[in-house]
Amino acid sequence: MTGSRIDALAARLSPVLDAAGLRRDPAIDAHRSADATGIAGAVPPLVIRPRTTAEVSAALAACHALGQPVVVQGGLTGLAGGARPAEGEVALSLDRMAAIEPPDADAASILVEAGATLEAVQRRAEAAGLRVGVDIGARGSCTIGGNIATNAGGIRVLRYGMFRAQVAGLEVVLADGTVLSALAGLAKDNAGYDLKQLFIGSEGTLGVVTRARLHLHPAPGSDALALCAVPDLATAIALLRDLRARLGPSLSAFEAIWGGLYDAVQALDGGTPPLPSGAALYLLVEVQAGDAAAELEAALAGALEAGLVGDAVLGRTAREIAALWHLREGFNRHAARFGPAAGFDVSVRLDAMEAFVAAAAGRVRAADPDAVPYLFGHLGDGNLHYIVRTRAEAAVADAVYRSIAEVGGSISAEHGIGFDKKPYLGLSRSPAEIAVMRRLKAALDPKAILNRGRVFDA
Ligand SMILES: Cc1cc2nc3c(=O)[nH]c(=O)nc-3n(C[C@H](O)[C@H](O)[C@H](O)COP(=O)(O)OP(=O)(O)OC[C@H]3O[C@@H](n4cnc5c(N)ncnc54)[C@H](O)[C@@H]3O)c2cc1C
Repeated sequence: MTGSRIDALAARLSPVLDAAGLRRDPAIDAHRSADATGIAGAVPPLVIRPRTTAEVSAALAACHALGQPVVVQGGLTGLAGGARPAEGEVALSLDRMAAIEPPDADAASILVEAGATLEAVQRRAEAAGLRVGVDIGARGSCTIGGNIATNAGGIRVLRYGMFRAQVAGLEVVLADGTVLSALAGLAKDNAGYDLKQLFIGSEGTLGVVTRARLHLHPAPGSDALALCAVPDLATAIALLRDLRARLGPSLSAFEAIWGGLYDAVQALDGGTPPLPSGAALYLLVEVQAGDAAAELEAALAGALEAGLVGDAVLGRTAREIAALWHLREGFNRHAARFGPAAGFDVSVRLDAMEAFVAAAAGRVRAADPDAVPYLFGHLGDGNLHYIVRTRAEAAVADAVYRSIAEVGGSISAEHGIGFDKKPYLGLSRSPAEIAVMRRLKAALDPKAILNRGRVFDA
């Protein structure tokens, strides 16, 4: 059945797409069967690579008519299994829709196709003296469509918000091929529902993003970054409060690396660490302002006087700043050398952070006495990347997610639910909320062909 349906689909689409627009085994690249989780999925029997919104529409209309399930693929850097193909799904890749229009300086916005990488858009914005508000480690491979579908966050949410806040206009294609195009990017537009919000963060389950108009921000005069050591989590949170008051919107990032991870990365990197080991937490504090270094130095001097910082080192030059950011990527750089690990991307209110960390540590230890937790993350917005070296992945997941649910946090701060976190969705969303999600899915994709089985079972 599946084979003949794929034949029928290919026959319908070959007059619409060019020769590179349809790939069938063995022309299919092996990397299309997995995302950045590295968990192998199926090799899709067909990959559809449209060049225009009209071609995406034709492809989805044909899949809808045939009841053919589709997995939507961007840069495959996702960390929840959303773009990982299930058996029998064809892949719809946006890799040939990567055009970027020149930035509109008056509106401070840019019109891009969904397959453009975040880094390519950042470069175009920077060449015009503007900035994209979101930056993430996967910038070179992740795509704007994927960023919108996952509502990506990253290191500067504190100042610029998540991807949702960057989207001024959106074009999506629904499962039956209907095109919804709202790309004007008007600052004020209350004409009925703001439909684009439905698709941001919906992980490709409600529609395929084809184009977007993104807000851009004026380039700050300069950046400065400091690494600070603090004796405990309570002091880290007090320092955040203090720096927010002193720096206002100039404070652009507040990242934390727990001492255990800092020491482990130093051991693997070798050389002299920028600050000696032994602190409970290390914080990366970034300021973007006219004279960022002066603002940061003054704010840290105040915090030092208030007894909130033990030791600090300031990066002033691009090289020094890059060296400090390098620490932040320490776990990702050495991930393979940490051994088998379970990773969690959780969100918690700052006033519940200490309770969560203590409860999770206790439960993780009970689940696996040999487990070693390594914590880092976007502390400024309550988002922790909680990594545990363990072989007891399921028991540890239960321990971490139960602790997060207990304090009213979220089991997914920024990576999404995909396939991998679906069993835990009910810990962060009520039955009533999940029921409404199901009704939206049924209304927009009645045959459940788009990213079937991701987020929840339709
Ligand atoms: C080293 C590294 C660092 C990372 N850092 C961060 C971080 O700081 N913050 C963060 O939020 N994430 C981070 N991520 C996760 C990942 O980069 C983001 O989720 C990113 O937004 C995914 O984009 P993508 O194009 O690779 O999407 P994919 O992995 O291809 O897909 C992700 C999901 O989006 C859907 N999708 C993709 N394109 C479209 C489209 N055009 N229309 C509709 N649905 C679509 C897919 O079906 C899937 O459900 C990181 C990943 C890595 C590997």
